[in-house]
Amino acid sequence: MADRIEFSRKTKAAIIARAAGKCEACEAVLKPGEGEVDHILPCALGGEPTVANGRLICRVCHAEKTANDIRRIRKADRARDKATGAIAPKQKLKSAGFPVSEKAARRTPKPSLPYRPLYREEQP
Ligand SMILES: [Zn+2]
Repeated sequence: MADRIEFSRKTKAAIIARAAGKCEACEAVLKPGEGEVDHILPCALGGEPTVANGRLICRVCHAEKTANDIRRIRKADRARDKATGAIAPKQKLKSAGFPVSEKAARRTPKPSLPYRPLYREEQP
């Protein structure tokens, strides 16, 4: 998994300016210094630390969002592990097998031919 990349100070400042003192999720009014800059698409799922992928949200919205993100990240981890064979399937595929026909069951096996060498050594 890629390392988490935080927003730069410049990006953070731009996001805070865009929010204009409100939570960008629930529109609650935030005091100066309040609010947290959130990755809309989490880093672990390929989100980048850009102004477009960031938003200023209140503490309540952020806690909710983070819990959801963790669920999504775990799900993505499990899907990747399954796809790459990192975890074994829970059980082997089971086949009913091919039905043996009556005719095949009655058939006597073919007699095997006597042993024959694949090559002969040349006589001098
Ligand atoms: Zn909020």
